[in-house]
Amino acid sequence: MRTPTACAGGPRREGQGHHCTVCNAITDIEPCAYCSDEARDRTVVCVVEEAQNVGVIEKTREFKGLYHVLMGAISPLQGIGPDELKIKGLLARVQAGVVQEVILATNPNVEGEATASTSRACSSRWACA
Ligand SMILES: [Zn+2]
Repeated sequence: MRTPTACAGGPRREGQGHHCTVCNAITDIEPCAYCSDEARDRTVVCVVEEAQNVGVIEKTREFKGLYHVLMGAISPLQGIGPDELKIKGLLARVQAGVVQEVILATNPNVEGEATASTSRACSSRWACA
């Protein structure tokens, strides 16, 4: 097992590195392997709720774009709204003009639906421009 490097702020799980400051994926390097891979399509961002979802999508080898991990699902019942998640970071990436398409791969449950519709509403403002 590797030793986790020091990380200022943010949650960190034992032996799993830290979160990429761009996409929030768990990584040992900064930015992560996905964000720093020039071969990937930077105009497409796949939005997932948890960092481990990235690995699941990677295994399919179907997706060649970048990722954005929300680090949770929007849950009105638990008082978790867009402000508690990493949607602002996603908006910043879309607003920067590089991202042309946002694919939502959030979980197919009620909370996932709330997350997806909020992300769609947030990003469509910029995607339509
Ligand atoms: Zn990254």
